[in-house]
Amino acid sequence: MELIIASNNKGKIREYKDIFEPFGFQVFSQSEKNIDLEVEETGTTFEENAVLKAQAVYDRTHCYVLSDDSGLEVEALNNEPGIYSARYKGLETEHERRMAILQELEGSDNRNAHFVCCICLIEDNGTKHLFKGIWNGTISFAEEGENGFGYDRIFIPENGEGHTTASHPISFKETYSHRAKAVAQLMEYLKAR
Ligand code: IMP
Repeated sequence: MELIIASNNKGKIREYKDIFEPFGFQVFSQSEKNIDLEVEETGTTFEENAVLKAQAVYDRTHCYVLSDDSGLEVEALNNEPGIYSARYKGLETEHERRMAILQELEGSDNRNAHFVCCICLIEDNGTKHLFKGIWNGTISFAEEGENGFGYDRIFIPENGEGHTTASHPISFKETYSHRAKAVAQLMEYLKAR
């Protein structure tokens, strides 16, 4: 069976290949299937955006499709940047976006935050499944560490012993992150079917 990942992000595609190939799927990226599609993420939730991305590819192919949508929600900022994590305040670089959050939180005594990952799987018969993982933590007072991407340098997860996710080896995220939790549910589903 063929599975298309509704993304051209190489890291995501590698990760999902490793998960699905043992279940007998041949995994392809959008570009490997010559699907030239830039889906506008017009949803108001991670779930809606994950479905939008997967549905657009499914409508063209009618085979198994998977997408994911993720981001950081900061309590004191009304859960911003949320679904706008990749384009927070229109800032160009990840460093600028991280610094914007640190600045917004200056003087705030609530630094609680969580990462969210929502995975949408559409089967070849059109059935949709959603899997969601949440990773609780707090926002640091300064950038720390060099691993990972996005907000990893300012997110101290609950099990991070006071250090940001960027300070831990990549294997730490692979075990505990919001994405790892959503993937674990997806694997449970695949094993049970
Ligand atoms: P997307 O799901 O690829 O659209 O990612 C949305 C954005 O959320 C990314 O560009 C990052 O800014 C942020 N994000 C999502 N997951 C993570 C993570 O594991 N670490 C750090 N930032 C993340």
